[in-house]
Amino acid sequence: MNWDIVQPNLEKRGFATRRFATAADARAALIEEIGENKKIGLGGSMSVVSLDIEGELKEKGCIFYNHSACAPENIRQELINAQFADYYLASSSAVSQDGVLYNIDGRGNRVTAMLWGSSKLILVIGKNKIVPKGEDGFERIRREACPPNCRRLNRNTGCALTGKCTDCAPSAGRICNAFVTIEHPAGRSTELWLVDEDMGY
Ligand code: SF4
Repeated sequence: MNWDIVQPNLEKRGFATRRFATAADARAALIEEIGENKKIGLGGSMSVVSLDIEGELKEKGCIFYNHSACAPENIRQELINAQFADYYLASSSAVSQDGVLYNIDGRGNRVTAMLWGSSKLILVIGKNKIVPKGEDGFERIRREACPPNCRRLNRNTGCALTGKCTDCAPSAGRICNAFVTIEHPAGRSTELWLVDEDMGY
């Protein structure tokens, strides 16, 4: 499945989109788009991590805010800085054929920043995130995204241990605490960068 059917439906909903044949093309465009001396918030997206932009942009004077990489005592301020940076970069965990974005979050910072902030939101989304007609986006996330994400984060959840959702308890390190659908752009400038390759989970 590719973005041919989904892209027009996203645009009908008001999302600005750009289309890229490869992740490498998206990377080059992102480096050009951001330019120099910008502040960039990261939402913990493996799709964005896979683009490996941090080193090159830091050489151009850019500053990244990433709560996963800062000292515990600085996390609160890092989350605020990320939400109000010049750019916020993330992905979406599932996109329905009719153009609805589905996301889950453990802490809530990423989905909050996707909904509202002072700067430009760019979501880089691989074609593996497209959900076939009739399938619920959150089912895709629990089946495809949560097990590898929980393993990566060393969580003791049922999906990390068995590969299947067990509707685990918060004490296990559950990452499915907030479920958010976005049907139209919310309170910030939003572009969806649609990539015709698989990216992230
Ligand atoms: S509820 Fe728990 S077991 Fe189910 S997908 Fe989410 S983290 Fe995994």
